[in-house]
Amino acid sequence: DVNIQEDVQFADMYLKEEVLAGLHSTGFIKPSPVQLQAIPTGRCGLDLIVQAKSGTGKTCVFTVIALEMIATSAPTCQVLVVTPTREIAVQVTSVINNIGRHISGLCVQTFIGGTAVENLVNCHIAVGTPGRLHHLLSAGVLPPKNIRLLVLDEADQLLDSFRNVVLQIVAALPLNKQIICTSATYTPSLQDLAKKMMRSASHISLGAKQLLAVTQYVHKLPYTDNFDQTFKAKLLHLKGILGSVVFNQCLIFTNSINRCESVHDSLLRDGWPVARLCGGQTQQERLKALDDLVTHRCRVMVATDLAARGLDSPHVSLVVSMEPPPHPHTYLHRVGRAGRFGSVGRSIVLASQGDDWLHVQAIATVLDLTLIVLPMPSLEDEH
Ligand code: ADP
Ligand code: MG
Repeated sequence: DVNIQEDVQFADMYLKEEVLAGLHSTGFIKPSPVQLQAIPTGRCGLDLIVQAKSGTGKTCVFTVIALEMIATSAPTCQVLVVTPTREIAVQVTSVINNIGRHISGLCVQTFIGGTAVENLVNCHIAVGTPGRLHHLLSAGVLPPKNIRLLVLDEADQLLDSFRNVVLQIVAALPLNKQIICTSATYTPSLQDLAKKMMRSASHISLGAKQLLAVTQYVHKLPYTDNFDQTFKAKLLHLKGILGSVVFNQCLIFTNSINRCESVHDSLLRDGWPVARLCGGQTQQERLKALDDLVTHRCRVMVATDLAARGLDSPHVSLVVSMEPPPHPHTYLHRVGRAGRFGSVGRSIVLASQGDDWLHVQAIATVLDLTLIVLPMPSLEDEH
C-alpha cells in the first residue's frame, strides 16, 4: 500500500507565500492528519465540524484557514475566534501571530474578561471569551458586518456552558459566514446544535479515543469514610509519584478550587517549583501561572478543570488526577494535556475504593478505555 499522505508538506498545499513562510518559521513543515484533511476543506469556505484528539494541531487548522482568507488592506474585523477560557484565547492569539508573522500589517487582538474594556476595535482577527466578545458586539465596539469566519474552539464546551451567549454571537454576525467548530470531543446533541447553526456541515473526524501516546493508569487507594483522611492519603501518594516517576513537567488536576489550593500549598512547602491555575485567581495571576508553565519556570502545576482543555505546554509529560473528573469527556481533555503532538506521556488517576473507583469504571466504560490498574499500596508501604 502506498500512503499518499506520508510525504505531503505544507509547501504542497497551495498556501499563500506568507502563510507558508510563517508555518516554516514556526517549525511546522508537515501537516498533521487533521491539518491535511481540514485545511483544504475549510479553505473552500465550507462549514466544518472538526474532531481530532488533543494535541494534534487543531489551532493551526483554523489559523491557516483564517490567514488565507483575510485581507489586511481592509482595517476591519473579518474573523472571530471564540474560546471557553481566557488562557486558551491568549495561546490562540500567539499561535496566530506566530504563523501570521510574515503577513504585513496583520492585527490580532485578544478580548477577555478581567481586563479593561477596549474602546475601538479595528483588528483583522478577534480572539476572545464568549461574554466579552458578545459585550463588544452588542455595544457596537466590534463591528460584525465584515466578519466572514467564526471559529468555536472547544466547541462542545462553548455550546454546553455558554450556549445562550454563543447563540447570540452567532445571530449577531452576517448570515453568509463560515463556521468552524473544533474539539476532541462532541456529544451527539451538541453536534446537532452545532449543525443547526451551519449551512451544511462537513465532518472531519479522526477519532477521540486513540490517545495512544499517553499511557493511562489508575491508582487504587483504600476506602475511608473520612474525607480529610482520604485527601491526606492521596497527597502522600502524589508526592510519592512526583518523587519516583520520571517527568518533564507535570499537571495535577483537582475537582475544586479548595483542593487545588491545598495541594499547591503543600507541594510549595515541600520545595517543589509549583504554580497554580484555577478560578478565584486574578487574571494576572492566571496568565502568570500559564506563562510560568510554558516558559518552564515551574515544573509542576496544580489546576482545576479550567486547565483541562486547550492549553498547550509541549513539555507536560505527566498528568495526575487527584480524583476522577465529573465528566468522562473531561477525562480525555485532562489526559490530552500530556502527549502533545504525539509526544509520550503518562496519566495517573488517584481513585479511592468506593465512589472514586466506581466513577473511574464508569469513565472507562463510557469511553471504552483500558486503564492500567496499579496495585493498592500495602500498609507496609505507608511507613
Ligand atoms: P489541539 O488544539 O489539537 O489540542 P494544538 O493546536 O494546541 O493542538 O497543537 C498541539 C501542539 O502541536 C502545539 O505545541 C503545536 O505547536 C504543535 N503542532 C501543531 N501542528 C504542528 C505541525 N504541523 N508540525 C509540528 N508541530 C505542530
Ligand atoms: Mg486546541
